[in-house]
Amino acid sequence: MIELRTPREIEEMRPAGRFVAEVLTTVKAAAKPGVNLLELDEIAHKMIRDRGAESCYIDYHPSFGAMPFGKVICTSVNDAVLHGLPHDYALRDGDLLSIDFAVAVDGWVSDSALSFVVGNPAPGRAEADAKLIRTTEVALEAGIAAATVGNKVGDISAAIAKVGHDAGYSINTDFGGHGVGRTMHGDPHVPNDGRAGRGFPLKPGLVIAVEPWFLETTDEIYTDPDGWTLRSKDGSRGAHSEHTIAITNNGPVVLTAR
Ligand code: MG
Repeated sequence: MIELRTPREIEEMRPAGRFVAEVLTTVKAAAKPGVNLLELDEIAHKMIRDRGAESCYIDYHPSFGAMPFGKVICTSVNDAVLHGLPHDYALRDGDLLSIDFAVAVDGWVSDSALSFVVGNPAPGRAEADAKLIRTTEVALEAGIAAATVGNKVGDISAAIAKVGHDAGYSINTDFGGHGVGRTMHGDPHVPNDGRAGRGFPLKPGLVIAVEPWFLETTDEIYTDPDGWTLRSKDGSRGAHSEHTIAITNNGPVVLTAR
């Protein structure tokens, strides 16, 4: 079911969006070579406790997950791109890290993700990593720009896909954007590829997460033995950018802006 929020409800959703942005900024700043993924998770977990917020991930147990997630952030390194389960791994110079974070504040969820290179780029990888990350960011901007009243979900999908394809990436549509509200995943699904002019009409009050992710040389993924982390089938690197936005008569409003 697709739910539309009143302007007042969208205002009530802003603290969650601001908190998600704050946590991502803090965790990114802490993600230096030598820092363990479990330390990053603990930083976010402490911020959640201090804020009195509620993790969307820790008890999350959908059909595709092997067990409850058990952590509060997703940390996907290099060939991992989505749902990376934080584990005992110390970051290395040149790792490409994607962090995804969703949390509820005062009963409203916000969801956002970013990718970046830890420390200095890996030898020979500077341009390729920068292009991959930047392409997800530009695709996110394009998807958000298409999220206007009168357009349809397919316009967002087509805008994202054009940026990805123009950069030479193929696109996996198994996981994409989604409605956001009292829970993390609602309708409509917002695929990262689709046909302009098709799908659910974008109406004022629709709140969605838009989240392009691309792999460098494949669109195929597999699940790590940890039961969660999604990795590229050919070992190539992935990147992911996500914001939660509200569609309004004055255009899209980015609730998780950093
Ligand atoms: Mg997310």
